[in-house]
Amino acid sequence: MLVEPVLAANAQIPLLVALLGACVGSFLNVVAWRLPRRESLVAPASHCPRCGIPLAWHQNLPVLGWLLLRGRCGHCRGGISPRYPLVELLCAGLWVAALEARPSALGEAPAWLLIGAGWLLISWLLPLVLIDGDHLWLPEPLCRWGLLLGLLITLAAGLSQSQGIARALVFNHLLAACLGLLAFEGLSALAERLIGKPALGLGDAKLTAMLGAWLGLSGMGLAVTLAVFSGAVVGLLGRLSGRLGPGQPFPFGPFLALGAVAVWLTGEGWWMQQWSRWGATL
Ligand SMILES: [Zn+2]
Repeated sequence: MLVEPVLAANAQIPLLVALLGACVGSFLNVVAWRLPRRESLVAPASHCPRCGIPLAWHQNLPVLGWLLLRGRCGHCRGGISPRYPLVELLCAGLWVAALEARPSALGEAPAWLLIGAGWLLISWLLPLVLIDGDHLWLPEPLCRWGLLLGLLITLAAGLSQSQGIARALVFNHLLAACLGLLAFEGLSALAERLIGKPALGLGDAKLTAMLGAWLGLSGMGLAVTLAVFSGAVVGLLGRLSGRLGPGQPFPFGPFLALGAVAVWLTGEGWWMQQWSRWGATL
């Protein structure tokens, strides 16, 4: 009889985290819309972009508000993009997944720190992905503050273990940030010489540096590898289906973020296992 309340409480935690994640996702939608337009993130309250009428509180509820309105503004009937509830659902799902994440980048840090760090990383990457998708632009301040935050988390995770581990982790992640920036900027300069135009945005270099600060050398390397592979597959499919014109740029930030989240959620070991299993079958 005593076990049941405990089990019920355990089942409620992912649900609560999903709700919290959806609310954060709702805010990140606002960030992704307003930041490139240089609007305040807090005021005015959420309003219909077409007629400007503010949303009632219940229309502002993540996912549910959009469903209640059936994807249309209650006043002018203008369509509200399904992207809003989808981003909220994605954020909720990733927040729940972060509960079980065992990132290799922070050593044996306590679970609460790893979970909180995962939530922060996911919530930092989502607006970057959306803004890069909309504007082919990765805002420099978001990358810079994200980098600093990554180093601070790394320091805290290291200090929760020992001073020696803290020194080693911060050194590794700082080195990764510098190498990520230099490698991508070097590659970009080289590509510019070879084909006469920049192949990679400088924002990608800054985002890679930020990922280095969070994931360390091996984690960043793995995330970039995953990004290059997934980006190549999507780019190829885009060209084959005619949705992407020859030489037409497409955002690389979302692939970097995808690689980083994949490495964070599964840990590097899992990818190494898949790699060696795949190698063994050849
Ligand atoms: Zn409206």
